[in-house]
Amino acid sequence: MTRTDLLAALDADQAHHIAFLQEFVRAPSPNPPGDTQLAAKVVLRYLSARGVPASVVAPRADLPNVVSDFEGAHPGPRLIFNGHMDVFPVGAADGWTRDPWSGDIADGHMHGRGVTDMKAGTAASIIAYTYLHERRQALNGSLGLTAVSDEETGGCWGSRWLLQNDTRWHGDCMINAEPGGISTIRFAEKGTLRLTFTVKTAGAHGAYLHKSESASRIAASLICELAAIEDMSPKLPPELVNYLAQPDVCAAADAAMGPGAAAIIARPTLNIGTIHAGLKVNMIPDSCAFEADIRIPMGLSTQDVMDKVLALCARHPQVSVAVQEAASNPSASSAHDHPMVGILARNAQSVTGVRPLALPSLGATDCKFWRYQHIPAFIFGPTPKNMAAPNESVDIGEFLAVIKTHALAAWEFLGGDPV
Ligand SMILES: [Zn+2]
Repeated sequence: MTRTDLLAALDADQAHHIAFLQEFVRAPSPNPPGDTQLAAKVVLRYLSARGVPASVVAPRADLPNVVSDFEGAHPGPRLIFNGHMDVFPVGAADGWTRDPWSGDIADGHMHGRGVTDMKAGTAASIIAYTYLHERRQALNGSLGLTAVSDEETGGCWGSRWLLQNDTRWHGDCMINAEPGGISTIRFAEKGTLRLTFTVKTAGAHGAYLHKSESASRIAASLICELAAIEDMSPKLPPELVNYLAQPDVCAAADAAMGPGAAAIIARPTLNIGTIHAGLKVNMIPDSCAFEADIRIPMGLSTQDVMDKVLALCARHPQVSVAVQEAASNPSASSAHDHPMVGILARNAQSVTGVRPLALPSLGATDCKFWRYQHIPAFIFGPTPKNMAAPNESVDIGEFLAVIKTHALAAWEFLGGDPV
């Protein structure tokens, strides 16, 4: 049993892989509300048709998690595959040129809400898991599969719940196929600090500025002052600073996440997402509330940022600030030169001809829950196309490449012949 045999089997069944993804996309699982029961049924049907035992862990009945694991023939490391089944909502479907749940195939792409984030990736891990399960006698160690719910709203009933309640899903390493693009491997992600600021003043007639301070003007001043957060510098090991400064790494970041991404990948950013103030144009507002979404890079702690925020607020006694705890998480990183990065990069290159580079992510994923437990977690997934926007799609060639890369990386990690 060799990697060549594994590849040949995966290649021979391409039509089945595509049919499974199409069925998965046609099972709507928008979050909110987050009900993934239809999508979980598709996954369970796929696994049982191939003789793979699986179970459902559902701390909430409408948010099932499909899990499975197996042992190889000999002792060895434990690897976990993780992917989510819930997807962004569609809303009024304005701007969609196809039914958002069509799974239509055209021009080498499959279309539908959630196909890129991340049903293609989750399906790829499930397929890879299935083909390794069939070949488990050739492997060492063990492999686990976690197809979860609730990623889009924080993981409380999904990955986080599994890790808190069953050490079976920890493993020695985790791989995931969130849409990072096939020219990157993601080894870290920024943390999120969400804050609600409230400014209170007496309020007055709009012509009587001598009577009251303006809550909206104080808020405007504070918002400008908060931009100083973006000047905070993370403390990173020199080798990582040097790695992130390499021209090919910067170019890969800009190519994968848009021009300018490399410049903020290791820096904090501030977004003021909402502002509410005032009843009428000729009244001085007596209150203003605004929300900030601060993204914190690896090497900078949430506490350091919060200290800076509080110091800036201290200039304005009219201001109070509250942390949105459920939506705030520290940054999370694994080693950018962990052996799994090399395994993923070599195997991806053997499949696609492109050697992916290790990069941090800007957005949040379930990988953080493994990284918080000091379990290395890495992402290799398809290129995001219209993620969280109308007309989401995935390149079918990339979907097939992700299946092979996940299968071959797990094969090698668990003692199969390397590339
Ligand atoms: Zn996702």
